[in-house]
Amino acid sequence: MANPKVVIKYKKIFINNEFVDSKSGKTFPSINPVNESVVAEIAEGDKADVDAAVHAAKSAFEHGSEWRSLQPAQRAILLNKLADLIDRDAEQIANIQTLENGKPYVQSFGEVKIAANIFRYYAGWCDKIYGETLPTDDGQLVITRKEPIGVIGQITPWNAPIALLAFKWGPALAVGCTVVLKPAEQTPLCTLHVTALTKEAGFPKGVINVVPGYGPTAGAAVSEHPDIVRIAFTGSVEVGKKIMIASGNSNLKRVTLELGGKSPLVICDDVNVDEAVKIAHEAIFANSGQICVAASRTYVHSKIYDEFVKKSKELALKRKLGDPFDSTVAQGPQVDKEIFDRAMNYIKIGKESGAKLEAGGERLGTVGYYIKPTIFSNVTDDMVIAREEIFGPVQQILKYDNFDDVIKRANNTTYGLGAGIITNDINKALKFSQAVESGNVWVNQYASLLPSAPFGGYKQSGIGRELGADALENYLETKTILIKLTPPA
Ligand code: NAD
Repeated sequence: MANPKVVIKYKKIFINNEFVDSKSGKTFPSINPVNESVVAEIAEGDKADVDAAVHAAKSAFEHGSEWRSLQPAQRAILLNKLADLIDRDAEQIANIQTLENGKPYVQSFGEVKIAANIFRYYAGWCDKIYGETLPTDDGQLVITRKEPIGVIGQITPWNAPIALLAFKWGPALAVGCTVVLKPAEQTPLCTLHVTALTKEAGFPKGVINVVPGYGPTAGAAVSEHPDIVRIAFTGSVEVGKKIMIASGNSNLKRVTLELGGKSPLVICDDVNVDEAVKIAHEAIFANSGQICVAASRTYVHSKIYDEFVKKSKELALKRKLGDPFDSTVAQGPQVDKEIFDRAMNYIKIGKESGAKLEAGGERLGTVGYYIKPTIFSNVTDDMVIAREEIFGPVQQILKYDNFDDVIKRANNTTYGLGAGIITNDINKALKFSQAVESGNVWVNQYASLLPSAPFGGYKQSGIGRELGADALENYLETKTILIKLTPPA
């Protein structure tokens, strides 16, 4: 498919089920990273718009409101309807996302389908969330209720904007909260298309509100807002720390953070090297390396190290870069100039560090933010490229001899989001899975995802979990009710 004609219908702030201009009248551009052209101008939200959105969400959450009066099963119907509408518009949403972030269309489409299934998963939870009756003496009844906590602030990044929107809306709406979302400034348009579908699905006004804009303005206003009781953030560690500070300085809002990573992938010497090379290749180069769980430290046993490096290089040199709407293209551009420059700077640091450049190491062409798949071998743990998140198509291949030692090396990081092992030895697979300090571990595959499987990080990769039943707890308070019973007359 070559650049399709994409009709952009929704470019404004969404409050109370209406698309409105920003109060300041300002707009900002969404840029196509393939050719640096403007896709569209979008209403730029700021504090005043966030205030209006939170006001709407607060009214929608009031006792007796239409939303609070729904049976839980009716919320499930709405979530299922939204999932069906996302499926109906999947091509359109994927087209817009690819225009905005340069991800190959086929992958954008797959991500949209994942989002629909996440909504279906959470639809199933709506009427299955309940408290307990506690054992006590005859003189009282003690029960707990699981209650929705209120207005939720949500901030998403650009690398998987639709899936991450579903990570956040699914559980929050299933339990009955209301939301104010600030999408990444690079991908507002695909987010707004899904937003429009929530109205079509029949969600009452004020339940879902979306304020596009920049991080330090609209994002900060969400993180500081006194009427937002929880914030769910996905993005960088740097901004995650700001979110926590804003919470402490405002109303101690609860905080869920999904942050960065420097994820290890261990390749044992008992594997089929061709297969292992392919898994490791996709684990780092998918989405141009812009994945939070990207396997950016590939640890390879010394016995197969040279063969592994040689075959990885061959594969990287074959990887096709180009128009993300071309179905034969595996890799699009980086999302924007800042992310491009940051990755190119790490490549420069890698070249100067003594690591061996095996492939890539430079941009492709002069227009668009394309970086050739880059491989460094002879990387050691102390090098900057082995310690810091690059968020680009740059594979670091490290050597190991001893299995226990490589587990220690894998854990020697401030991050703990993803980890993987490729082996045919069940003992090694299980030992690694148990010992690695990481929220997600993959064995003989990498980066697979299930709506029912909790996702999140150890250490500075985050706080809390999204997806699965765990995520529901983020949006619930437990209320204990103790009732004294009248003694018999
Ligand atoms: P970023 O932190 O710069 O931006 C993410 C979001 O935060 C955007 O919506 C942005 O506008 C907003 N933001 C920026 N400054 C803010 C502020 N001061 N207050 C409130 N909001 C603010 O992240 P990025 O560089 O665009 O995205 C890449 C990072 O996200 C990487 O570190 C990556 O690992 C991480 N990430 C993590 C996951 C995960 O699930 N753990 C998923 C995707 C991306």
